[in-house]
Amino acid sequence: MQQDRNIRGIGMTSARTRDRLVERLRQEGIKSTAVLEQIRSVPRHLFVDEALASRAYEDTALPIGLGQTISQPYVVARMTEALLDNFSGESVLEIGTGCGYQTAVLAPLVKTVHTVERIREFYQKARQRLRELDIYNVQFRPGDGWEGWPKYAPYDGILVAAAAAEVPEKLLEQLAPEGRLIMPLGPAGRQDLIMVVRKNDHYEQMSLGAVSFVPLVKGK
Ligand code: SAH
Repeated sequence: MQQDRNIRGIGMTSARTRDRLVERLRQEGIKSTAVLEQIRSVPRHLFVDEALASRAYEDTALPIGLGQTISQPYVVARMTEALLDNFSGESVLEIGTGCGYQTAVLAPLVKTVHTVERIREFYQKARQRLRELDIYNVQFRPGDGWEGWPKYAPYDGILVAAAAAEVPEKLLEQLAPEGRLIMPLGPAGRQDLIMVVRKNDHYEQMSLGAVSFVPLVKGK
């Protein structure tokens, strides 16, 4: 019952508060109706500490402990929109599950998501949270995202939620032909969201604009 009430949302987590967030993202250039609907329906307040729940529908990153953050809704929407624009693929690999918010926004829009997180506590919590939200097409793994998840490769899409100076080689290898990888590239303060598309004999890279992410930590 308590859970049910939480999911429906009251007060600062109400439908009106969510509508305002969606309107703002639309004004900032998010066009995909499917993505905006996901932002509206995924209960972001359940992904943060209760003390921060009243700020869950602000367009801002929030701390989730251990020096990590839940991504800003605009960035989640932008990455998901870029990943799914003209996307005919089925399988997506996500690196940096964190609290699982991006995973929950993305999963209902694709066939399968495989997601890797190096902090075991986050991995466990995210897995439990998504079950509670009745999202079942996600496979979770504690591990090092630099290695990807070779067992289920190749992936039609790869989404990395932490920044690095270079694109991890193993992730490029695990990309299907015409598959696309989206990740923040560059040092803190000068990160660029990039998209890499795998072509027959080369990779094409384009920029999607400036962003700010926590680092993709080297090693487990
Ligand atoms: N996707 C999340 C945001 C995650 S923040 C959201 O929806 O809000 C980035 C996450 O990447 C953190 O949880 C961090 O622990 C994780 N991370 C950093 N380096 C990693 C690595 N090498 N392998 C796997 N996960 C990593």
